[in-house]
Amino acid sequence: MNTKDDTALTGRSFGRKSIRASSTPSDLMGETPVLVRAWRAEVITLVPQAFPGVLGESLTGRALQEGLWQLGTTDLRPFGEGRHRNVDDTPAGGGAGMVLRADVLGRAIDTALDKMRAPVPLVYLSPRGQRFDQAMARQWASGPGVVMLCGRFEGVDQRVIDHYAMQEVSLGDFVLTGGEIAAQAMLDATVRLLPGVLGNAESAEDESHSNGLLEHPQYTRPTIWEGHEIPPVLMSGHHGEIAKWRRAEALRLTQERRPDLYEAWLAANPPKKKKK
Ligand code: SAH
Repeated sequence: MNTKDDTALTGRSFGRKSIRASSTPSDLMGETPVLVRAWRAEVITLVPQAFPGVLGESLTGRALQEGLWQLGTTDLRPFGEGRHRNVDDTPAGGGAGMVLRADVLGRAIDTALDKMRAPVPLVYLSPRGQRFDQAMARQWASGPGVVMLCGRFEGVDQRVIDHYAMQEVSLGDFVLTGGEIAAQAMLDATVRLLPGVLGNAESAEDESHSNGLLEHPQYTRPTIWEGHEIPPVLMSGHHGEIAKWRRAEALRLTQERRPDLYEAWLAANPPKKKKK
């Protein structure tokens, strides 16, 4: 089922070909099949076997199978130098560890970019990068896809980052051994925002970080567990009161835990002046 570009040289692709016939009546659409341009991620990595990983499970996995998005990997190894396909070398100027070579990365990046059907953000996963957040996920989800480069060892030759004007993005203020877990985390956050990936279209709306507030607490059955009750208002069936309670809880939690978010939210939502 792979399209030609998915099987090129090194690429492995997960997800279905994105060509589908329209189910819309022919008098509206004509007979021509509609080419659905599925959102596509291409990940350059030394460990392609780590993909789709957790992205192949549950909601993101089902969406991948249904062709709502596509995932390809570009294996770095075949682009390596010499008989052993070396991809790294010692750092110029000395020091510990190994650095991924510019020439090897350049060939892999060009190959990955060729697999994309439109210009997309070219991202280097890096602890030095801008911190990933919901706004970035939303921005990526609104485009045609993303190409991600996963570093390993001490990282990549700086000239590659500069030459391709790569966007450096960090998962957080800690150091991983490679970019793959960061790539999967960011792709999960992005893909779940694509139309049709979440079952209930509303479930992405009230969530933490989507409206500037943390989410209110959630409860489900049993109604009494280990002596703890569900807040009675949630069992009242009174939708207005429930919405008010959830709002108040979201505000309380945000103020307590993330004063930075709370201040930003207040600035964007100034309290309404009461009429005298
Ligand atoms: N020497 C580098 C760290 C290299 S870690 C430094 O001090 O900045 C090896 C690779 O793991 C990196 O090239 C990067 O791709 C990935 N990585 C590590 N931490 C990361 C983080 N917080 N976010 C995204 N990618 C990370």
